[in-house]
Amino acid sequence: MQLNNLGWSESFARSFESYASQGLSVGRVALAHRGQYHLYTETGECSAALTGKFRHLAKSTEDFPAVGDWVVIQPATETSQALIESVLPRRGKVSRQAAGSKSEAQVIAANIATLFLVSGLDHDFNLRRIERYLVMAWQSGATPVILLNKADLCEGPEEKVEEKIIAVEEIAISVPIIPLSALHQNSLDALNPYLQPGKTVALLGSSGVGKSPLTNKLIGHNVQPTQAVRADDSRGRHTTTHREMLKLPSGALLIDMPGMRELQLWTDPAQLDNPLDETFSDIESLAKQCRFRNCQHGPEPGCAIQAALEDGTLCAKRFNSYQKLQREQDYQHRRQDKQAQSNTKARWKHITKMVRQQQRD
Ligand code: GDP
Ligand code: ZN
Repeated sequence: MQLNNLGWSESFARSFESYASQGLSVGRVALAHRGQYHLYTETGECSAALTGKFRHLAKSTEDFPAVGDWVVIQPATETSQALIESVLPRRGKVSRQAAGSKSEAQVIAANIATLFLVSGLDHDFNLRRIERYLVMAWQSGATPVILLNKADLCEGPEEKVEEKIIAVEEIAISVPIIPLSALHQNSLDALNPYLQPGKTVALLGSSGVGKSPLTNKLIGHNVQPTQAVRADDSRGRHTTTHREMLKLPSGALLIDMPGMRELQLWTDPAQLDNPLDETFSDIESLAKQCRFRNCQHGPEPGCAIQAALEDGTLCAKRFNSYQKLQREQDYQHRRQDKQAQSNTKARWKHITKMVRQQQRD
């Protein structure tokens, strides 16, 4: 398969240049599971593992390959499987807080062009959740498209669906919104413009919104969820689902992200554009009109936000949602900061110990 059809682009080619002369090759991660990887390459599919050097040099969970990543490999030989030497710089990623108590990001998927944010038009419909997903999407570097599924369930007056779409339009400024039904193949035609050959898309949404029937319809047959069932333990059976990149008949690549229930924000304080600004551009521009630069949007005089809340141009629920996400982000950043400090401390401790040891020897 040609690299272009796997999502290869000029920028990856430039990053790869220095490796090409060393007889190394590239592959794209289709599946990652406990240190084992399944890759799509120009010459076919193969399994791969990390080199010892890679594991040694990796500093955090984020450094490890994720589904969608382009990796530099030593091709497989008769006696060994392909070995991953490094990960090419990502053009965006979906991250979340890694499991455990450490404040660390885990990359769920990388190099996504379009992120389909799936919501149900049924009782599950929730504007605040859509706002949260939008922040995640803007953070990921992918372009969000909102899919409002289960349109068939909104029987009765057409207005019901219309009302919901208008409500979403108000909070998702300039984001395409597509109502559809995963049960009806023809309603999926609206997604075709995003499913061009070599383009990577992913579905993100709470469980129950219909991601699996959507995936099955896009693939054209039922995909058996790749599930590894761990042996029974005292707490019963555990299933771990893993993320997978699938080739669609249209030539696009679909990253399946099951088990993304945990919706903790993960944003990078080093990133210049705050993803909250993108999602809440209306609030951000109001804030610029406040009399005081450090306005807390409380009882201060000349607060443009309070004025907008009073005259109804800004909805209180939306403002609360913004503040909640802002607080969550601040908390995340403080934790990341603390973690960075303690990492530096630990590194110095380690170095000092090594130096002392050497002096003693
Ligand atoms: P997932 O957790 O996002 O993968 O969602 P599920 O596949 O578990 O879907 C939840 C339920 O919603 C299933 O019973 C689906 O059959 C149903 N469902 C999904 N999409 C639609 C739709 O467009 N219309 C209707 N009526 N039901 C749907
Ligand atoms: Zn203000």
